[in-house]
Amino acid sequence: MAEKEENIGITVKKEDDMPEWYSQVCQKAELADTSSIKGFMVIRPNGYGIWENIQDYFNKVIRERKVRNAYFPLLIPESFFKKEAEHAEGFAPELAWVGGAAEEGEERLAIRPTSETIMYDSYSKWIRSYRDLPLRINQWCNVLRWEVKQTKVFLRTREFLWQEGHCVYETEEECDKEVYMFLDEYKRLAEEQLAVPVLTGKKTEKEKFAGAKYTTTIEAFMPDGKALQCGTSHNLGQGFAEGFGIRYIGKDEKEHIPWQNSWGFSTRLIGAIIMTHGDNKGMVMPPRIAKDKIVIVPILFDKTKKEVLKKADELEKKLSEYGVIVDDREGYSPGWKYNEWEMKGVPLRLEVGPKDIEKKHVVVVRRDNGKKEFVKEADLIKRIPKIIDEMHGDMFAKAKKHLDESIVEVKSWEEFEKVVKENKIAKAPFCGEGECEDWIKDKSGGITSRCVAEGKPKDKCVQCGKKAEEFVYFSKSY
Ligand SMILES: [Zn+2]
Repeated sequence: MAEKEENIGITVKKEDDMPEWYSQVCQKAELADTSSIKGFMVIRPNGYGIWENIQDYFNKVIRERKVRNAYFPLLIPESFFKKEAEHAEGFAPELAWVGGAAEEGEERLAIRPTSETIMYDSYSKWIRSYRDLPLRINQWCNVLRWEVKQTKVFLRTREFLWQEGHCVYETEEECDKEVYMFLDEYKRLAEEQLAVPVLTGKKTEKEKFAGAKYTTTIEAFMPDGKALQCGTSHNLGQGFAEGFGIRYIGKDEKEHIPWQNSWGFSTRLIGAIIMTHGDNKGMVMPPRIAKDKIVIVPILFDKTKKEVLKKADELEKKLSEYGVIVDDREGYSPGWKYNEWEMKGVPLRLEVGPKDIEKKHVVVVRRDNGKKEFVKEADLIKRIPKIIDEMHGDMFAKAKKHLDESIVEVKSWEEFEKVVKENKIAKAPFCGEGECEDWIKDKSGGITSRCVAEGKPKDKCVQCGKKAEEFVYFSKSY
């Protein structure tokens, strides 16, 4: 047994060295791996399971919102990018071109960095009259952005997985309304499923999506004092429709240009989960989104082995809806198994041994706080969902406390600098101008605006002293 009991723990503390802690958790909890291809990641089953559950959840949500899933080509002709000037400019540095087509004398093709253009080319053929609207389509796919920055699995890789919803409406009002409807759904996904609290609001002009009228965002705030953009919902206005010739005949029998929105979140959400909830023992899966919510560890002795394994099987069947692993491997001590499942972040551990069978109870241990509870077997079915809700609630509350305590309203540049230096979020009166935001970024060593906050400022812009139009959250970011 001894040689198998090697140290599998994390060798640095989260609070001391978060980047190293993060990469060890991803590796050792088998969530993701780097690849031999520079800038790419391999999502392992433990990580992919979270993504599958996010997909299951979100597919139900958007179906209720009358969105249907479809799939569009991976490649985008060069000419498509030129149909929306700002969009083309925004994505130009990140495009990866495919060799084959150009060699055959055809138009150059790029791998999609996002799918507006290839989808709207189809939309222009499908939309004829107001009866075809609204059109609401979502696609789950991979996208590729040839970024040069340092790779970090889930957070920054050249290829990643996402969903992108693309809708078309008759009026601006409908379009606006649903931009915020999908943003609200993102907030609910983050907070009610992943236990990750978020700030929501509009992006500044400088930070909006290339080609959008405006962009809204959900921003999570990580324990190391950096914000993480977790999902965006854009009002695209009529620019793409103009560029791609999407027109509809209205009830007035005249031709009109429709309004469009698009909205997306990616596998980055998994990075948010890891950083928000993980601890020095490893991953902590939010219980509602975890694929395997329960691991049963039977306590095995030669004499009572058969009986205990039978009980473990019985429990597995009884709780199957939660996703149950029975760890009946021989040659590992229970303690070793506990460490391993704690590393992988399985929300609940059930321990069952001969004494527990005698007393007709099961030991339930929560991964987030180690709290141990003896639950009568007869009460298990009722108690498990309650423990899951309590655990979710506690994990959310802890993260929310950190977010709330990190927001500091500032009035002067001195206060601004002090707050962001302390890894907090400065809520600052801001003029809204791009040049001023550039200056803030330069002067502060990379601080960016996250989103517009609520309220109307009375003070002047924190940097330039001009009239402040709005409060804006500024912080370090991923
Ligand atoms: Zn200003």
